[in-house]
Amino acid sequence: MTKDIEKYDCIVAGAGFAGAVAARELAERGNKKVLLVEKRSHIGGNSYDELDDAGILIHKYGPHIFHTNLARAYNYLSRFTQWRDYQHEVAGNVYGKLIPVPFNLNSLHMVYESEKADRLEKMLVETYGMEKKVTILELKKDESPELAELADYVYRNVFLYYTQKQWGLAPEEIDPAVTARVPVFVSRDNRYFQDTYQGIPKDGYTPLFEKMLDHPNIEVLLNTDIKDVLGFEGGGLMFRGMPFSGTVIFTGAVDELFDYRLGQLPYRTLDFLFETYDMEWFQKYGTVNYTVDQDYTRITEFKHLSGQVNRNKTTIMKEYPRAYTGAEGQIPYYSINNPANDGLYEEYRQLTESFKDFHLLGRLAEYKYYNMDAIVFRALQLSDSLIDKEEH
Ligand SMILES: Cc1cc2nc3c(=O)[nH]c(=O)nc-3n(C[C@H](O)[C@H](O)[C@H](O)COP(=O)(O)OP(=O)(O)OC[C@H]3O[C@@H](n4cnc5c(N)ncnc54)[C@H](O)[C@@H]3O)c2cc1C
Repeated sequence: MTKDIEKYDCIVAGAGFAGAVAARELAERGNKKVLLVEKRSHIGGNSYDELDDAGILIHKYGPHIFHTNLARAYNYLSRFTQWRDYQHEVAGNVYGKLIPVPFNLNSLHMVYESEKADRLEKMLVETYGMEKKVTILELKKDESPELAELADYVYRNVFLYYTQKQWGLAPEEIDPAVTARVPVFVSRDNRYFQDTYQGIPKDGYTPLFEKMLDHPNIEVLLNTDIKDVLGFEGGGLMFRGMPFSGTVIFTGAVDELFDYRLGQLPYRTLDFLFETYDMEWFQKYGTVNYTVDQDYTRITEFKHLSGQVNRNKTTIMKEYPRAYTGAEGQIPYYSINNPANDGLYEEYRQLTESFKDFHLLGRLAEYKYYNMDAIVFRALQLSDSLIDKEEH
């Protein structure tokens, strides 16, 4: 993708959704010459997908399902892809029985005998109404002991062990505020998301990124850490040893950028175990959560997501959460947001303030969890402000 752009107006670090959307906007709407620097050997960030050895389309960094109520994010991406209509369903494996998650009226009828399930359903519908999400905290406070018992069932069989594995916590370390928000969905809708727009890019995420970055004002430099080309000297930015006065958007980890000089920001990482089987289907659902046993949190079978047809082979992925140590090759996936860690992040953020026109964008650079739609939206907003500033 090398192009003959002699001088860059903007440098963007990271070719995930944050960096790619910003690069396209600045190049197209802002008419800027953009250099997009990516340290991996491919574009797409954590949304990258590729064919595995069996020819099955897999999501290398975990299963990604697009869902949003943000029309702007959906419409923007629709310029670069068509969509496969896919409504994700997740089941919880509770001692071998697969029940819809979030726990809903269908789950209710699978775990209780019919008379009790009918009675509980009637109480839920009369008290809270259909299509409502009720938290287990609300149910615990309900005057009916049977609804409090239901809350306890969901806490123990759907939430507790899964959350312990995900975050590496003992039960008493789990934030009560998180527990309080666990939902029971008073509905027969088994879909994991209820958003207006849902789907998977028809040809995959990587072709979407290829289209988005295919613009004469964008040059992509792979296998390059931004630190190899960008320096911070005497309060100014240097690009390949020369002062750089253009816009810089950084979407990587800010502690790494500053060589961990204030300490390391804590994250959870994941080990992914891919397995290919000589069968058409491994499981009935896109994702099965292991909520009461196993060391992995969930198994995803990719053909459900992609719609790919292969009668002889299928590939699944098991996810093992771990503490992130910063070891070579480990990827920080989930920021661990609490007052101490957010405070450390804020100190790093302030270090960047002295650099003019230097912007932090994305799940790593902002040390917060973003869904894909939310980071697309945020990247569009940042681009708006940068382009507007130029125009006024
Ligand atoms: C397991 C998992 C499942 C998920 N599933 C969903 C889902 O189903 N739906 C959904 O909406 N969202 C999902 N997400 C969230 C989604 O991955 C993020 O919204 C998205 O990755 C954010 O994009 P980003 O550009 O901020 O970060 P990334 O995609 O991580 O991109 C950052 C890029 O910057 C590069 N980089 C970092 N440092 C440097 C450097 N120093 N120099 C050069 N390049 C650098 C990285 O290599 C990477 O390519 C999931 C996340 C995880 C962890």
